Amino acid sequence: MTTHASNSYRVDPHISQRFYINGQWSEPVSPASLPVVNPATETVVAEVARGMAEDVDLAVAAARAAFPGWSASSAASRAAFLGKIHELILERKEELAQALSLEMGAAIGFARAMQVPLAAEHVRVARDLLTRYRFQTLEGSTAIEREPIGVCGLITPWNWPLYQITAKVAPAIAAGCTVVLKPSELSPLSALLFAQLVHDAGLPPGVFNLVNGSGPEVGEAIAAHADIDMISITGSNRAGALVAQAAAPTVKRVTQELGGKSPNLLLPDADFAKAVPLGVMSAFRNVGQSCSAPTRMIVPRDRLAEVEALAAATANAIIVGDPQSEDTVLGPIANEAQFKRVQVMIEAGLNEGAKLVCGGLGRVAGHAKGFYARPTIFSEVDSSLRIAQEEIFGPVLCIIAYDTLDEAIAIANDTVYGLSAHVQSQDLDQARAVASRIRAGQVLLNYPAWNPMAPFGGYKRSGNGREFGVYGFEEYLETKAIVGFGE
Ligand code: NAD
Repeated sequence: MTTHASNSYRVDPHISQRFYINGQWSEPVSPASLPVVNPATETVVAEVARGMAEDVDLAVAAARAAFPGWSASSAASRAAFLGKIHELILERKEELAQALSLEMGAAIGFARAMQVPLAAEHVRVARDLLTRYRFQTLEGSTAIEREPIGVCGLITPWNWPLYQITAKVAPAIAAGCTVVLKPSELSPLSALLFAQLVHDAGLPPGVFNLVNGSGPEVGEAIAAHADIDMISITGSNRAGALVAQAAAPTVKRVTQELGGKSPNLLLPDADFAKAVPLGVMSAFRNVGQSCSAPTRMIVPRDRLAEVEALAAATANAIIVGDPQSEDTVLGPIANEAQFKRVQVMIEAGLNEGAKLVCGGLGRVAGHAKGFYARPTIFSEVDSSLRIAQEEIFGPVLCIIAYDTLDEAIAIANDTVYGLSAHVQSQDLDQARAVASRIRAGQVLLNYPAWNPMAPFGGYKRSGNGREFGVYGFEEYLETKAIVGFGE
């Protein structure tokens, strides 16, 4: 039996049982709370206040009152606040990493190396953009002004909790908007720390507000609120569609970052000894709980045996275990509902007759507790199978064979999603030509380094709108033409 090193992070009840509204930690209207479960031990580690529509009203009123002042503040002063927030994230990175690890099971090394630093990058990017973004341009004698859209409701998921928060909050407040954030009720601890550091950065009251709670209670109240101008949600397609429906009567802007089932197309000339292991690790990063995870590896049929052997060797060498251990590559799945969903999908793959290359049902050996799923690879997967069509959001990879390039591209495009895609080839011209035929918001050639300026978002049912860099920033702006402005 594996023993668990204990997580050093202790939740402060002064903040977990309150909301951050109008520059202070305020009492919720109801004493109700929601448990936060450590997925490594299945124990409740905190109770967070559970918001109601009335809490949302208070947060929106604060954001609305702060909007005139904040939207009229200079870009330089907003950049200075973002700079301070960036500094504080880096200063408190260990505490944030521990909170992330506790709330969603991220391996501590991964939380330190990826979850926290990449979250900080969104803040840095927003700060830097403000030094050069032109809020006014001229088209002949017409001035085009870009102005903040207003009060924004931001709804985020549990898989990259802090990163998804900064990807929305930083560009929104950089643009001059004020915000009401609802983090995932399953992983709200890093969000509370973020609110505390925003407070410590001295942001004017009401610019940033946080209300915890469930999707149907707080999320829907935000989506439907008459005094909110825009919603940005990252989450499942189900929640994204419900938010759009609730938002429709008030005609607010809705941007959605939703699911994915991203292809990884290996062209025959790819360096398989590198491309396959990197493909497996990319699919399983964050325990496969990334909307852009390349979970469909599309390979030439005559290379199938070689790909299976390389993929199995990679998966079998992955250390899955206690997220507090420095050696751990993958911790548990973030919560029980997701663990069960992954099991259902592995079972579907087995029942549908896909070839199991490694992994399978049940917990990783040695773990009686904790949501430890086995890294699982299926091969000879037909593109029509459920495991090839539905987002699984766990460490499950499908290997799909192709005979011709046209067929490979058709398979890559053969889902309702279009978030991200990978192409592997030693011939860059060929990789580029394939990229242009893939219907996805982002195509990555030969595993490039992450670029926080590259716009991220979905074609088809993966969503609407873009995040990151200048494209993400502009989602929070309105466009005003002043005709007859003069030269
Ligand atoms: P989820 O849809 O259950 O929850 C996401 C957020 O929406 C949570 O804060 C939740 O409380 C809220 N929510 C749920 N129902 C709501 C409703 N009716 N009204 C308003 N808000 C509601 O998703 P999750 O399980 O937290 O996250 C996993 C999903 O997120 C996956 O499908 C994944 O693909 C997607 N995701 C997408 C991206 C992206 O950028 N495209 C990034 C990360 C995750």
